[in-house]
Amino acid sequence: MSTLVFYSEFDSFEEWSALLAPHLPGVTICRAETVQNPAEVHYALTWKPPHGFFAPYRNLKLLVNLGAGVDSLVGRDDLPDIPIIRLSDPDMARMMAGYVLFAVLRYARDIPAFEHAQREQRWHYLHPRKPSDIRVGVLGLGELGAYTAQELVRQGFDVRGWSRSPKVMTGIRCSSGLASLNDFLSQSDILVVMLPLTPHTAGLLSAERLSHLPFGAAFINVSRGAIVDQAALTAALQSGQIAEATLDVFDREPLPPDDPLWRMDNVLITPHLASVAIPASAALQVAENIQRAARGESVTNQVFPERGY
Ligand code: NDP
Repeated sequence: MSTLVFYSEFDSFEEWSALLAPHLPGVTICRAETVQNPAEVHYALTWKPPHGFFAPYRNLKLLVNLGAGVDSLVGRDDLPDIPIIRLSDPDMARMMAGYVLFAVLRYARDIPAFEHAQREQRWHYLHPRKPSDIRVGVLGLGELGAYTAQELVRQGFDVRGWSRSPKVMTGIRCSSGLASLNDFLSQSDILVVMLPLTPHTAGLLSAERLSHLPFGAAFINVSRGAIVDQAALTAALQSGQIAEATLDVFDREPLPPDDPLWRMDNVLITPHLASVAIPASAALQVAENIQRAARGESVTNQVFPERGY
């Protein structure tokens, strides 16, 4: 017998167990408090479990992170030395791309200017720009970033992408590595941050780096707030160096009520929901990976704690 132990304060145990059970005959799915025999726990499906959570489960074969971001997991000192995977599914990438497309198109079509003019009952004609004249830089070309960059290409934008390792992607000018970052930033009329938070990306977008963006650039962050120096971002938005921002993530969440970003007309704030795991589509990927682990095969969507993502 095998057991899968579930822990999350945010996700529904009932929903996940109902979706997984048909694909995992012979696997008992339960919450930690109802585990009968810890030695039979071979799989863990968790989101931010308390410290020491994994210790009783000495025969774990696979740890599944109940989310795409793993920054809260990889730095822990209580991780078992087993394969770790994260959620990744096409619906999640589509939802993320939809959010970014909305934000990019909003700037590309000057919608904030029209919103402003409407509040003043002012007919304000701005001739539409061609998407091909607008350079959109996507930082991070992973599961979510690559999908989003391709959607932006389909909309006709001049899309550039930046990643750790070199890439070749149709229609996207790709660059990689820190040495190319300032140039990349200087060619991004709209910058989209889609990097994971790791020791290498924490604080990456410092005041100095942000100063390389073209004056009046638009800034979109959908990955993690701590990748950006938020005080420097706020100052750049106040000075006009960055004209507009769409922010889904912040260095502190919820964003404190007294944060100046709340009161800035040129900032659109959403509460960390650009994309969420959709159990109905992610469950199949999780079940397949559990079956692979059971057969002793390698898993997909693996996380590598030593590189931080
Ligand atoms: P992936 O792990 O698939 O991709 C990460 C990308 O970032 C890769 O292209 C990787 O490069 C690149 N990268 C990592 N470190 C560096 C570095 N030091 N320098 C340059 N490039 C780097 O992540 P996803 O696309 O799935 O997700 C990105 C992030 O989005 C998640 O980590 C999570 O924090 C966030 N997220 C936010 C959500 C929200 O609702 N706001 C929802 C879901 C996720 P390479 O390709 O060379 O490995």
